Amino acid sequence: MKKLFLITFLSAIFINVSCTLSAPKPPKLVIFFVVDQMRPDLLTRFDKIYSGGLKWLIDNGIWYTDTHHEHSYTATGPGHTAIGYGQHPGKLGVIGNSFYDRELGKTVNCVEDPNAKVVGAQKGKARSSSRYDADGLGDWLKSKYPSSKVISIAGKDRAACLLGGRNPDQAIYYNKSGAFISSDYYVDELPKWASDFNQEFKKRPYQDSLWFRSLDEQLYIELSREDYFYGEEDNYLNNEYSPVFPIGIDSGQDPYPILMGTPWFEREILELSKDAVAEEMLGADDNPDFLFISFSAMDWMIHSYGPYSQEVMDACIKLDRYIGNFIEFLDRSIGLENILFTLTADHGGLPLPEFLSFQGKKGGRINKKHMQEALTWIDEECEELFGKKLYHRDGGNFFLDMDRIKKANVSPQKIYDIIEGYLTKVDGIEKMIIKEEIINTKDADSLTRRLKNMIHPVKTPDIFPLVSYGYLYRGPYGTSHGSPYDYDTHVPLIFARKGFRKEQNDKRAATVDIAPTISRYLGIEIPEYCDGESLNF
Ligand SMILES: [Zn+2]
Repeated sequence: MKKLFLITFLSAIFINVSCTLSAPKPPKLVIFFVVDQMRPDLLTRFDKIYSGGLKWLIDNGIWYTDTHHEHSYTATGPGHTAIGYGQHPGKLGVIGNSFYDRELGKTVNCVEDPNAKVVGAQKGKARSSSRYDADGLGDWLKSKYPSSKVISIAGKDRAACLLGGRNPDQAIYYNKSGAFISSDYYVDELPKWASDFNQEFKKRPYQDSLWFRSLDEQLYIELSREDYFYGEEDNYLNNEYSPVFPIGIDSGQDPYPILMGTPWFEREILELSKDAVAEEMLGADDNPDFLFISFSAMDWMIHSYGPYSQEVMDACIKLDRYIGNFIEFLDRSIGLENILFTLTADHGGLPLPEFLSFQGKKGGRINKKHMQEALTWIDEECEELFGKKLYHRDGGNFFLDMDRIKKANVSPQKIYDIIEGYLTKVDGIEKMIIKEEIINTKDADSLTRRLKNMIHPVKTPDIFPLVSYGYLYRGPYGTSHGSPYDYDTHVPLIFARKGFRKEQNDKRAATVDIAPTISRYLGIEIPEYCDGESLNF
């Protein structure tokens, strides 16, 4: 008994001491890595061969293995919104990357800013988050620490703008013509470190670079598949269909737009990020700073080759090395003990439908001609029965003009029935979703929940199609994302810091939980409108 007491007593002391020792100082810098379209299996499938930054994050991180985007349209704009704002994208009105805005009567890009001008180059589009009257995680930080810096860097404009929130210090994105730019919504001119970077970037000889595998081909066959796989896009020297290594840029083609579809682009993003850290003195004082980095090239590569391709496996191996180099730089300049890292993705993605079929799984591409025929029949029948212009149609999305419908004395249900009758006959269209039904339903299954979180009461179409599990609109090659199914919603989520013990937690988590989790960790107040919950690691 005495012995037991002693052991209990000693272990109580030990726990106490270890708690005190392991209570780390608050980080001076939080870095958010968002890898566009990164499914969790792009970490798990290659974990044995990672040796750089992805390995460091896994080995020093708490990984929430069952993390999902809890909204139904899994695309870049909505995904980065969930991460950057801790709120569901439907509520804020980020209902797509670009979408028909019925109030404006036109299609808009989700970060279009008609009042802004481009900064940093002649070419490119002026973007910002100004369409949304909302504060994000960066703004929550600044309300507690006004001198903290928030910097957001990405290939894609929507990624940079939507991670940054309302008032970041910088939101910098690629103009697809050889320069990283911003808009005067954020700054009057590009910071010197970014314009210097652009000068150097232009000197690099990408026109002549060839993309080869980093490791032995056998490993790629074991962990991915044969290099030649029908369904992959053939992006180089494609006289004859042959989507294989090496990959380069055809002579005569402008390398700058194409570069965003190569692994080297991610290295450039990290080089630019190094300049941001050094020149903006990120992590230099006790006011914590945020650096958001979104790797957009990964999305382009996965779209072209699919997540099980050798190309994407190699892009992941290269990204692991690039992030490793970046982490070494951070250790030298700031000290890793001062940095908290977050790794996640804006959405997952579907394997190539041809690969699903090869594995005996259900998958397919929606036949564009069949879809178009169905839409034409709907338009013709509705016009014949009810007269013209009762709705605006944007692809398969229908925006009903309720005033006209009332005047014409037509029940919306009659229009819905016609739409449903034709579109659900198209192979790959599961059913039509009626907005009002989703808003009013008490159902709480994951599909309904995700649909609800995507709905904006005004902007969302009144009726729109839901694709069938395993189906894509894209064709004839490549793959995509955008559905509410788990393969598109499931993403990695790792919080890593020097001294954290490697851990996997299978508790269900959502990407809207990231913002409140970081807030709690830094002692920032979590606003009531936040849709996520803090994960307590
Ligand atoms: Zn994409």
